Amino acid sequence: MTTNRPVALVTGASSGIGKAAASALAEAGFEVVGTSRRASADDRREGVTFLDLDVASDTSVASLVDRVIERFGRIDVLVNNAGIGSAGAGEERSLTQDQQLFDINVFGLIRMTKAVLPHMRAQGSGRIINISSVLGFVPAPYMAAYAASKHAVEGYSESLDHEVRQHGVRVLLVEPAVTRTAFEANSPKPATPLPAYEQQRQVFERVMAAAMKDGDDPATVAKAIVAAAADPKPKLRYP
Ligand code: NDP
Repeated sequence: MTTNRPVALVTGASSGIGKAAASALAEAGFEVVGTSRRASADDRREGVTFLDLDVASDTSVASLVDRVIERFGRIDVLVNNAGIGSAGAGEERSLTQDQQLFDINVFGLIRMTKAVLPHMRAQGSGRIINISSVLGFVPAPYMAAYAASKHAVEGYSESLDHEVRQHGVRVLLVEPAVTRTAFEANSPKPATPLPAYEQQRQVFERVMAAAMKDGDDPATVAKAIVAAAADPKPKLRYP
């Protein structure tokens, strides 16, 4: 199956921001492939073709990109959206928890980028839109590993953008504030209850409330993603 429309690949399109972005990109005229670890073969919903993907697996990433290229011949836009949160006091979280978080939020995004970039370079065009967070540039007590993962996404994206512009490819950032999704419910809880966790959480919530606008709708973030995908003169960052 080929398409005359530009092809957008959105990771983590089963829920929240990714789901809203996949629908908005389809409405904006893109052929959209969304991913979910829960997708079955040839799963098509609301104008979006769903394929399975675990960004933490090298073989899953390679197989997904092969399937998209086989089916549509190109990838014009990659939205690296799949991600998890995970809170807890820095010294009480296990290193394994922090490593798992990085394996999805940072190395998942890097795995996808490495797999898609050669196709975009061969095309001489493409946009990689990385979903960071306001926590990519402000601190977040009791979410240090998560904030570190998003700071890493910022540094990786901006550096790579300078590297690949010469090949017609751009790497752009979308930095959502707190957005109403199932993010917290979908995020792993501390393996053992943290002694002062509720108290820590209250402090954290006060800091966060002061640091950012609360309650953005996923559709608002999706608009920024469509703008990044379609902007004739792309900026590095979209709010
Ligand atoms: P949701 O929990 O609603 O959605 C997360 C998505 O990521 C799901 O579709 C899930 O798909 C997918 N996902 C999780 N783990 C993996 C994995 N290992 N491999 C592939 N896909 C995976 O969260 P949001 O929509 O809120 O979050 C999306 C992005 O936005 C994240 O990167 C998050 O850090 C960022 N963000 C969120 C904010 C918020 O307040 N909600 C604020 C700022 C940034 P499935 O389970 O089907 O595989």
